[in-house]
Amino acid sequence: MQYISAVPDSAHALPWPRRLAVMGSTGSIGRNTLLVVEGSRDRPFAPGGTEAFRIEALAAGRNIALLAEQAARWRPPYLAVQDEAGEHGVDALKKLLPRGYHPAILTGPEGYAALASLDSVDMVVAAQAGAAGLRAAVAATAAGKTLCLANKESLVLAGDLLRALCAKSGAVILPVDSEHGALFQCLIGRRPDDVARLWLTASGGPFRGRDRAFLSTVRPEDALRHPNWSMGAKITIDSATLMNKGLELIEACHLYGVCADEVGVLVHPQSLVHSLVELKDGSLMAQLAEPDMRLPIALCLAWPMTPPRAVVGISPLDLAGAGTLSFEPPDTDSFPCLSLARRALAGGRTVELNAANEVAVERFLRGELAFTDIPELVRHILDSAEAGEASAGAPGMPDRGPAAPDLSLALARIEALDAATRNRAARWHAL
Ligand code: MG
Repeated sequence: MQYISAVPDSAHALPWPRRLAVMGSTGSIGRNTLLVVEGSRDRPFAPGGTEAFRIEALAAGRNIALLAEQAARWRPPYLAVQDEAGEHGVDALKKLLPRGYHPAILTGPEGYAALASLDSVDMVVAAQAGAAGLRAAVAATAAGKTLCLANKESLVLAGDLLRALCAKSGAVILPVDSEHGALFQCLIGRRPDDVARLWLTASGGPFRGRDRAFLSTVRPEDALRHPNWSMGAKITIDSATLMNKGLELIEACHLYGVCADEVGVLVHPQSLVHSLVELKDGSLMAQLAEPDMRLPIALCLAWPMTPPRAVVGISPLDLAGAGTLSFEPPDTDSFPCLSLARRALAGGRTVELNAANEVAVERFLRGELAFTDIPELVRHILDSAEAGEASAGAPGMPDRGPAAPDLSLALARIEALDAATRNRAARWHAL
């Protein structure tokens, strides 16, 4: 096991206050990040009682009303939005900002990348949803920032590239995803050779125990009701199909330098054990806490300090009142996405897996596809990608060798494959 980056110990931790760029500030992770920063204001915990965090940049997609509210509160010198013009563009945002406050406003993927690599930023919270977050995550890594990574797609699409960039720039990646944060906590102080296996837990989503016949009748509003976690729409659907766990399995393989066989998945409906590490002596180390994203976020922001509970904003877990904790193997017949993710990782097809899944989820939410069509579409894309490779030639297919030395070329190849796969997925018709 080899962690993706050299994680700094107390002697090499970032200085205080930490200057943050929050990418995806209006989303669920972004809002929780600002809550943690707010919590640190009243309860200084950094050494010497200094301010712990300073917000240097906020980036959002199209929710300019909330971005303007956040900007008015934190007054960062830099903002970024998706659109240059129009009702969600720069001029519209400027009208919502307080008088006398004139931040630089950047736009689009280049704007996000520029913001994530600012000299005045030392920690980047990468919380933009889906493949859109890739450029900012890569830019931050290339610039040697400490990256608090919530955008798991970055590792799914470009895990090898990010690993190479960390080695070159000295960037550090800390896992915001709750399962990987739990693994991180269980692994602190362990020798890599002592670890036998990583275990990711999954809630099983709202349809745990249901069969395919039932699943084919599920509507978007049913799938958007997650039993334990409050999250964005894309990840909530991914949790219901178990694709979220498939993407997390790929994420774990890149973060911890293990192969898919060394990562197991356990369905744990109570979502209190957030993941486990199996040691070579046969023991299991588990991390338990209330299911609240502020905990993994605060752990990353404060690393290597343990942030006080009052800053995190959660209560200690009342185990005596929690009732029974149960565990079961995942049902990969009714929920094939987990097996599809393993297959994609083994075959080097994770870009196709992710693109097909993103399109399938969008089409399900628009009412174009049944819930059970999501894995079918993904399977179709993997089948045809593999058939294309087998028939030789596969014109225009990106090079699957090690990360190209030219960063923009490597990124362009990933993005071209992503776009081509999305086109195919958009045209697929259910049988
Ligand atoms: Mg997770």
